[in-house]
Amino acid sequence: MKRIALLGSTGSIGTQTLDVIRLHPERFRITALAAGRNVDLVRKQIEEFSPEIVSVHTKEDARTLQAEYGGRIRIVWGHEGLIEIAGSSCDFLMNAVSGSMGLEPTLRAIENRVDIGIANKETLVTAGHLVMEKAKEHGVRLLPVDSEHSAIAQCLEGNSLKEVSRLILTASGGSFRDYSRSDLDGVSVEDALNHPNWSMGAKITIDSATMMNKGFEVIEAHWLFGIPYERIDVLLHKESIIHSLVEYQDTSVIAQLGLPDMRVPIQYAMTYPERLDYPAKESLNLWEIGALHFQPPDFERYRSLRLAYDAGRAGGSMGAVLNAANEQAVAMFLDGKCAFLEIETAVEEALSRHQRIEHPDLDTILRADRETREHVQTLIT
Ligand code: NDP
Ligand code: MG
Repeated sequence: MKRIALLGSTGSIGTQTLDVIRLHPERFRITALAAGRNVDLVRKQIEEFSPEIVSVHTKEDARTLQAEYGGRIRIVWGHEGLIEIAGSSCDFLMNAVSGSMGLEPTLRAIENRVDIGIANKETLVTAGHLVMEKAKEHGVRLLPVDSEHSAIAQCLEGNSLKEVSRLILTASGGSFRDYSRSDLDGVSVEDALNHPNWSMGAKITIDSATMMNKGFEVIEAHWLFGIPYERIDVLLHKESIIHSLVEYQDTSVIAQLGLPDMRVPIQYAMTYPERLDYPAKESLNLWEIGALHFQPPDFERYRSLRLAYDAGRAGGSMGAVLNAANEQAVAMFLDGKCAFLEIETAVEEALSRHQRIEHPDLDTILRADRETREHVQTLIT
């Protein structure tokens, strides 16, 4: 029985993680849940999964829940609460919060020596060097949940990293894949939230529309697999059937395919290296799909993708700035405070103003994150 702590239990990846646990009650048990503000849903999750410890965002909500559940469950709150859940007694941590708030809980779980299902890619964009160093030091595995990275990990199974010539990440193109650059002027929040292939949280749906998500995934792949940026490519593939590919030295290319359903990579991360039944969905029928399409990315059209490659290559504190600027600008776009194209302008401006710091430690990263958010607020308002 694997004891699971889940951060972001009320979100898109969090609720799908609980779906996987429902499919295999003999294999998994929830010991800890962390949610944000959705107290109604976390209450239902407490009733169904009986965790030992639960975290919510505000102190008030924590008090309410503590009064309801008395001594049966320990209720904690805030950022400290998230970190406490990450350090709680368990065998596996699923980190499915959105944004750089996932960084410190990831580091805490590594110290706790539990394997981590890393959906929270912002952790790696912000401080991949700290996370990978610490994971190596404590012998902790970071198991990819992102469908592309799960695909790459599967394509690498049984092969040597030394023989890899390229990683190829596929990209659906997001909500505006058929728009020209000028069509993007004045697009609405509602349009941006309408992803053609995947149903996801709001922030990552906007990141998919700007292609910053793919840029983040390039950085995520760099840290997870230790491959230099010049050997990580992006390929537009609108059907989201090939989840990613690995090319080897002999020009042989291995791909991983499947219907778009995040529960498959979530389950694989939780059971790795084993595979379990997945009875919830039909098999992939390529004859029904008929044709798959591919295109190279246009770095002028998708400027965020170029910004992410540049920040990744520059390294140091640039990843933290890239992520924080993007988080702040996306939050402001979702709040109706800026236009869609201002997201990338703000990120570009934040990166160009930042004095890059080599080998930043955690405090330096957290300061860069905070200062960048403040800077972007002044840029936009
Ligand atoms: P959602 O926005 O759907 O979920 C975010 C979760 O974080 C919710 O449970 C939310 O709680 C919680 N949360 C928000 N603010 C706080 C806070 N201050 N303290 C504690 N918890 C908080 O995001 P997704 O599930 O879409 O994405 C999660 C991560 O997974 C992201 O890093 C994303 O990039 C990555 N990912 C997601 C994919 C997807 O298909 N969704 C695919 C690949 C990667 P509440 O709702 O209760 O406020
Ligand atoms: Mg992805």
